[in-house]
Amino acid sequence: VDVTKVDDRGRLDTIRDRVRARGRRWTVAKGAVLETLLDQPGHLSALQIHEVIAARLPQIDRSTVHRVLLALADEGVVHMLGHHGQTRYGMADQPHHHAVCAACGQVAEIPAHLVDLLVTQIALAVGYDLDRVTLTGRCGQCGQP
Ligand SMILES: [Zn+2]
Ligand SMILES: [Zn+2]
Repeated sequence: VDVTKVDDRGRLDTIRDRVRARGRRWTVAKGAVLETLLDQPGHLSALQIHEVIAARLPQIDRSTVHRVLLALADEGVVHMLGHHGQTRYGMADQPHHHAVCAACGQVAEIPAHLVDLLVTQIALAVGYDLDRVTLTGRCGQCGQP
């Protein structure tokens, strides 16, 4: 048994309970979108999410994926990032920061505990109330010669 998958299942169950507790609908499409996001490291575009889902559930079209993502963003389950002229979606249930590839726009999650102390110090230094840090550079693929 893959330990990560078991964790993801628990995360998905918690999110579903939270969505239902708010009186929102839980649908097959919602579950499929969230499973896809939990399955991938980093953040995906609506198109990438649809490509993964369509292989398994061809009845879920691109506009449904889009609508579900907007609903999930509204419910605070996912959050949107705009980089490289493309909106990407990531899970919002665990605090994290972002590493963005300046060449291809790929986004990786930086666990909050790695940079929280630094963020606090920077916030003091610049007098901003900072909640999220974005580091840019090149991803493993784009950095290859
Ligand atoms: Zn994120
Ligand atoms: Zn890249």
